[in-house]
Amino acid sequence: MQEKLSTNPTELSDSIRNLAEERKKENKKFIQQLKRKPPHDLDVRTQEIHDEVFENTDCLACANCCKTTSPIFYEHDIERLSKKLKLRPVKFIEQYLKRDEDDDWVLKSAPCPFLLFDNTCEVYHDRPAACRTYPHTNRKKFHQLLDLTYENTFVCPAVQSIVSRLQEIYP
Ligand code: SF4
Ligand code: SF4
Repeated sequence: MQEKLSTNPTELSDSIRNLAEERKKENKKFIQQLKRKPPHDLDVRTQEIHDEVFENTDCLACANCCKTTSPIFYEHDIERLSKKLKLRPVKFIEQYLKRDEDDDWVLKSAPCPFLLFDNTCEVYHDRPAACRTYPHTNRKKFHQLLDLTYENTFVCPAVQSIVSRLQEIYP
């Protein structure tokens, strides 16, 4: 079931996080259960639920991922975006990126500097691969992404709904 969330950006972000906090214990327990014994049809069922949930999700009314977290920027992302912005890659890095604790390139600040006032993306056609695949709930070998999915319940209301639906299927 889709939760009713605020339309105010700060309140929206808080309400997504609060809901994830409320469900933290049961979500964590469920994710551990899936990790211990991944159901044989997990990929298929998750893909179906992902499609259903995103059919009813308006990302342009949310954009909480772009407002609060950073994608990883791989080398080909940096090259493509530098070209788009007519910057040398070294300048692009200097202006927008920093290394995180895993030594990956991520945005220096949030919200993403390419997020426009209407929640569209200024560099949509050249956006990083991680933005294209977020929140990764339709990926093969989904059992390898369960920890990330748990973390994403704090950011993405669609992920929270997907996890809740999976809980109904795999009680
Ligand atoms: S992917 Fe999730 S967090 Fe990002 S805009 Fe869509 S619903 Fe919001
Ligand atoms: S590059 Fe675009 S899609 Fe990716 S985080 Fe920034 S605004 Fe969002």
